[in-house]
Amino acid sequence: MSYDNNNVFARILRGELPCQKVYEDDATFAFLDIMPQAEGHTLVLPKEPAALLVDLSPAALQAAILTTQKLARAVQAATGAPGMLISQFNGAAAGQTVPHVHFHIIPRSPEQPLRAHARDNADPAALAAMREKVIAALAAQA
Ligand code: 5GP
Repeated sequence: MSYDNNNVFARILRGELPCQKVYEDDATFAFLDIMPQAEGHTLVLPKEPAALLVDLSPAALQAAILTTQKLARAVQAATGAPGMLISQFNGAAAGQTVPHVHFHIIPRSPEQPLRAHARDNADPAALAAMREKVIAALAAQA
């Protein structure tokens, strides 16, 4: 699948659009989902431009899954959720709405039903507060 350089995540990666960034290294970037399916919903992207998981180089895929593991630990610590759903959609037919590869980290608990995918914008103040918690949990890991 050809890569659209102007998809919303490409623009976030280039710093053209804002996001609640929680982590960045040479190969990966992570930020809070603006329409979270649960409090703490986080997205992890490889920086390599690719729409689908199958388009990624082995090095970019490895970096992305390692960052996903790191962030899953931090998001779990930040939210206290007993379960973490990790998902990754490939192609519109599979439900993918932004054509740059990303992993979803979605905290799960019996008290909080899963909200609809990419539907309701979060309160910006709540997102900012969650960002601080995730960053603190990452710092505590180090
Ligand atoms: P997909 O459907 O491609 O697997 O997931 C895309 C995700 O990106 C959705 O969960 C959606 O809520 C989120 N999203 C879409 N646009 C933006 C945006 O501009 N900023 C942020 N932070 N998340 C976005």
